[in-house]
Amino acid sequence: MSKTHLFSTGTENLTFAKMERGRVIKSTGSRYAVETESGEILYCGIRGRIRTRGIRSTNPVAVGDWVKVEGDRDDPVIVDIEKRKNYIVRRSVKLSKESHIIAANLDLAIMVATMLHPTTLPVFIDRFCVAAEAYHIPVAVVFNKIDLLTEEERELLDDFLDVYRRVGYETLVCSATSGEGLDELSDLLRGKVSLFSGHSGVGKSTLLNKLDPKMNVRVGAISEAHLTGKHTTTFAEMHRLSIGGYVVDTPGIRGFGLVHFETEEIAGYFPEMRALLPDCKFHNCQHIQEPGCAVKSAVETGEVAGTRYNSYLNMVEDTETEESYR
Ligand code: GDP
Ligand code: ZN
Repeated sequence: MSKTHLFSTGTENLTFAKMERGRVIKSTGSRYAVETESGEILYCGIRGRIRTRGIRSTNPVAVGDWVKVEGDRDDPVIVDIEKRKNYIVRRSVKLSKESHIIAANLDLAIMVATMLHPTTLPVFIDRFCVAAEAYHIPVAVVFNKIDLLTEEERELLDDFLDVYRRVGYETLVCSATSGEGLDELSDLLRGKVSLFSGHSGVGKSTLLNKLDPKMNVRVGAISEAHLTGKHTTTFAEMHRLSIGGYVVDTPGIRGFGLVHFETEEIAGYFPEMRALLPDCKFHNCQHIQEPGCAVKSAVETGEVAGTRYNSYLNMVEDTETEESYR
């Protein structure tokens, strides 16, 4: 509710005429920078109990949230949060039921990878894809530093990426150094809220600076520090790109951080396997040893790529080890 001004003539711009809608682009824990639909940045507090819609979270409002703001211009308050189309979370403390929402309403999760210097392993890419599937975020796989590849290596990479294209993921090759593929990368990012992930050194900051020199991302600043119990709070931030669109920076987490999966759900997050699951002989098939497994047959025919299946096995193995520690 806005303050009433006894002597207000009604012409001063002391209060909002109506509620404003905006998007949270930065959070510091207690204040939130909200970019309104009219392009203004308001530094808002929160008032009252905001419905968190079923999520037990340590932070009621996250970067990427669409919110309603009201109040004086010098003291605007977030009064409502719109339903999120997706969000990424991190459990605040190990085994805690409370989560920390890192970012919401992402349009695209981009895996930035490199074949050489450093080498990104397929299993790292697939884990990212699986997490994105679980979070309902579309995936793009971008290979940078193609200037370092021989003709032969480029062909190999193209075959490798063909697997992802067939799964339905957007793929792209580029070089921040030579400029190749950067127009396509711009097109991919334009108008979207994207998450940039990938190993340190693959060129995330360099690419962003090439796309938008005004952004001035510190090289190495798009952090990928290992997720340890030491980080207690992490605040993401949205950077606006001059080409249109935003990139979400999530300091302190690598990719999506730790996503916990149950063994039975993993295959469902591989889209090419998901379609085959009803054809397995056993409904609780783990697609490892079982007879009449449709996934394994598809691996044999090449319909499901061997690298993807390996990643699947790798993830199942991890889940099993994880469970034995409980
Ligand atoms: P980040 O950790 O993912 O943000 O990676 P950086 O942007 O810090 O880049 C790591 C190193 O790779 C830097 O020395 C960049 O100059 C270099 N680099 C980035 N993109 C390319 C590229 O396309 N080709 C080559 N050869 N080097 C690149
Ligand atoms: Zn099976």
